[in-house]
Amino acid sequence: MREIKHWLDGAAVEGTSGRRLPVWDPATGEQQAYVVAATKAETDRAVASALKAFPAWRAASLSRRAEVMFRFRELVDANRKEIAALVSAEHGKTVADAAGEVARGLENVEFATGAPHLLKGGYSEQASNGVDVYSIRQPLGVVAGITPFNFPAMVPMWMFANALVCGNTFVLKPSEKDPSVSLLLADLLRQAGLPDGVFNVVQGDREAVETLLAHPDVQALSFVGSTPIAKAVYEAGTRAGKRVQALGGAKNHMVVLPDADVNSAADAAVSAGYGSAGERCMAISVVVAVGAVADPLVHAISERIGRIAVGPASDPAAEMGPLITREHRDKVAGYLSEPGTAEVVVDGRDAPVSNGPGFFLGASLVDKVSTDSPLYTDEIFGPVLSVVRVDSYDEALKLVNDNEYGNGTAIFTRDGGAARQFQYDVVCGMVGVNVPVPVPVAYYSFGGWKSSLFGDLHMYGPEGIQFYTRSKVVTSRWPDPATSEVDLGFPKVR
Ligand code: NAD
Repeated sequence: MREIKHWLDGAAVEGTSGRRLPVWDPATGEQQAYVVAATKAETDRAVASALKAFPAWRAASLSRRAEVMFRFRELVDANRKEIAALVSAEHGKTVADAAGEVARGLENVEFATGAPHLLKGGYSEQASNGVDVYSIRQPLGVVAGITPFNFPAMVPMWMFANALVCGNTFVLKPSEKDPSVSLLLADLLRQAGLPDGVFNVVQGDREAVETLLAHPDVQALSFVGSTPIAKAVYEAGTRAGKRVQALGGAKNHMVVLPDADVNSAADAAVSAGYGSAGERCMAISVVVAVGAVADPLVHAISERIGRIAVGPASDPAAEMGPLITREHRDKVAGYLSEPGTAEVVVDGRDAPVSNGPGFFLGASLVDKVSTDSPLYTDEIFGPVLSVVRVDSYDEALKLVNDNEYGNGTAIFTRDGGAARQFQYDVVCGMVGVNVPVPVPVAYYSFGGWKSSLFGDLHMYGPEGIQFYTRSKVVTSRWPDPATSEVDLGFPKVR
């Protein structure tokens, strides 16, 4: 069986631990490959390789670093199909969805090519007599990225594009569930001219992450994954004195006001609820139906569910693929048996595809979900959409604001004033107005609030550049006998 290797010092390297982790084909339920979980020694070697490469990469001119990123951009663009195919083969998402992921990752590479401009500092002439003050941004050193299974190409690009162009060296620990694309990206970076050791990949799980968290030479960690692990990574990393941004899970609400266009809202709810089988941190998992819109909306959503083509990525007609593992599929399906006041309008377990060997589950819709049900309180991360009915905007807003998570949310309405009020009131990091999946473009930054993000800076965009650099302020005076004197007082500016 095929081993998916580590990438150390510019080359693929076999693992030595003997601890094999399976990589499944979610469409067939068969194991297709494995990774050998990195030992502490292998993870240490990746960090040592990144540390050794740091001084020369940091010293490379801004234009040189940007040039590598431009070439990488061209290579990703030229290999879009191959990258998307690898994503689909291990994740299970449709080829069109995987191509969308590559395109959104590429945006971040394009943003990073602008680093020479983004890394400009400030300059204040004559801050005092003969004294000038200026600020510069410098890279941190070795930084690490730990990424989830649901975007194996895009989320690493969220991180390493900015990190590298700022002059850092990088160790990526991708998800062990769909790790192949990390090696393809590593090879494209090599082809783009990135020196060996500047980008390394260690395959594995908790052990590799814990080694990175404790390693004194790792200056900063970017993490994306589930909330309990994000919180643990943030706490362990900051305790060890590192800079950490740790993005967690979500429970994204889509509020539909009574004046909304029902058909557009239903199209959006179905697209955002079942796209990528609900395995997106920005997926809509709760529709909050305000007042009389509930009945027609539930009807319109259920009609559309019947038309979703569920199937393997190899079928060009498929719109929704399988879930990532059998355990996850069974866990998601289990929510449909939750007791309570809920009404299962469409039960995905009844879909023929749900009973095959792959990890498929049909799209499900549950109405009248109560807010103390696990259907509402848990991040399900599957194709299960809940509808919560409320009587007013205030009740809808309270629901979103009281929720533990604050990643994304959306409001559907034709009333501009209501939408503006929602944008003002809502306690959430990313807001859509008649846009159900408001993932910010690469020149803004991505991040939730509350239990959806631990740390101070959001990911990619301008905050990404800030995260991967630290600022230094220089106060400078050149010898001038006319202004030189002994003065034991605190430096004055006036
Ligand atoms: P996960 O938390 O299981 O794994 C994420 C990463 O952490 C993986 O690389 C994994 O190997 C590693 N890991 C797992 N257990 C660990 C442990 N005990 N200690 C240290 N590291 C560990 O998440 P997942 O299932 O791969 O991804 C789905 C989750 O990610 C969902 O909760 C989703 O909402 C979230 N997510 C969030 C965002 C965001 O931007 N907020 C984006 C994508 C996914």
